[in-house]
Amino acid sequence: MEKLTGKELQKSLTYSVEHIAKVDASMTEKSFEFCENYKDFLSASKTERLAASNILEIAKANGYVEFVPGKEYKVGDKVYVNNRDRAVILSTIGQKTVDNGVSIVASHIDCPRLDLKPMPLYESNEIAYFKTHYYGGVKRYQWAATPLAIHGVVIKTNGEKVEIHIGEDPSDPVFCLTDLLPHLAKDQRERKMADVIRGEEMNIVLASLPYQGEDLKDAVKLTALVFLNEKYGITERELLNAELEVVPAGPARDVGFDRSMIGAYGHDDRVCAYTSLMAEVETEAPVYTTVSVYADKEEVGSDGVAGLHSDWMEHFITYLAQAQGVNVLTALRNSKCLSADVNACYDPTFPDVMDPRNSCYLNKGVVITKYTGAGGKSGTNDSTAEFYAEITNMLDANGCFWQAGTLGKVDQGGGGTVAKFVSQKNIDTVDLGVPVLSMHAPFELVSKIDVYTTYKAFVAFLNR
Ligand code: MN
Ligand code: MN
Repeated sequence: MEKLTGKELQKSLTYSVEHIAKVDASMTEKSFEFCENYKDFLSASKTERLAASNILEIAKANGYVEFVPGKEYKVGDKVYVNNRDRAVILSTIGQKTVDNGVSIVASHIDCPRLDLKPMPLYESNEIAYFKTHYYGGVKRYQWAATPLAIHGVVIKTNGEKVEIHIGEDPSDPVFCLTDLLPHLAKDQRERKMADVIRGEEMNIVLASLPYQGEDLKDAVKLTALVFLNEKYGITERELLNAELEVVPAGPARDVGFDRSMIGAYGHDDRVCAYTSLMAEVETEAPVYTTVSVYADKEEVGSDGVAGLHSDWMEHFITYLAQAQGVNVLTALRNSKCLSADVNACYDPTFPDVMDPRNSCYLNKGVVITKYTGAGGKSGTNDSTAEFYAEITNMLDANGCFWQAGTLGKVDQGGGGTVAKFVSQKNIDTVDLGVPVLSMHAPFELVSKIDVYTTYKAFVAFLNR
């Protein structure tokens, strides 16, 4: 046998990943086209409730009907579960019964933001404010002195649900937190980063004119209340029965001379929600039943009734198993899950926090993350070599572009996803999603090519 040259050996033995546009020029155009609708979805889905509502609307338009426990479904039937208007499961019934396992893609539709406190409204020095409580991993200083919108629901004392959306339409007013002027920031400059804007300094400016006509105490607060009452029919008492979220105002935008990237609030993790949604709705008669989950509360540890630490997804699989007369424990044991979530993209401006050999990069495709967690790999699902191989081989077999990543340098910090909550149900799970720059910032950045390759990965998995 002829001896291979060093160059040939390098080609056959070493592993590296290229910029996708250098390997397949057609990916640019395909990804640009795919991302037009993604930007619209993202701009219209600023909260988990809006995301859930938009997901359900797209699902219904594609033939999904509300799931009825106990009902028998046939191959190709499409059903949805609406968990309290804030989390959703979409499912396409497969050819095999669910004791053969289901294909789970689990993304989350909540994002870091500022929630209003239960009693938010007050006046100070003739300015009316909302007090907030930040939600999730927020660098608080990023939220000062930037336009903000308010979205959410208020349940009136008569039971009526009122939706509030203000700050997105160009004709709407917006809101903001104030920051100190640099001239007087001598003491603020000495604060540590986490303290530059403190939690109790995150007060939203609402109004500055007094209610006219009488001499009243807190007349500017009354101006705000009268606006809320005239526009939404609510009182200060009813603000207690509310979920109101303050988020960056404005739509998703193309970024760069070449428009190759999208800057927006909420890529983490609505980018995986949208890409898995597109893959789910086009799936027809899959071998394994699909379970596409759009969960709430990931950013605060997946606790709460619509988070994946709750049993609601397992209950859905249980109902399917019961209706088919098969064992749910066997169904769970044989199921496979992609924990569909973003990962930290290598940022050349901040290289110190990354291991460059184990990072994901812009435009190199969907990233597979064997483990997240912190310290000595604590608090994570660390996928088995067998399952990692199964997924990456499946992607290769389907011509999908992908890359491997980790969550930064060892001991630099860390984080988690829903993966550990799914895997604790005895389900093989691995993290897979889009690389993101400036993750959790009010303006996160992704590459269109990476978004498109993530969609292709979900298509391959749901049709495995
Ligand atoms: Mn996430
Ligand atoms: Mn996150």
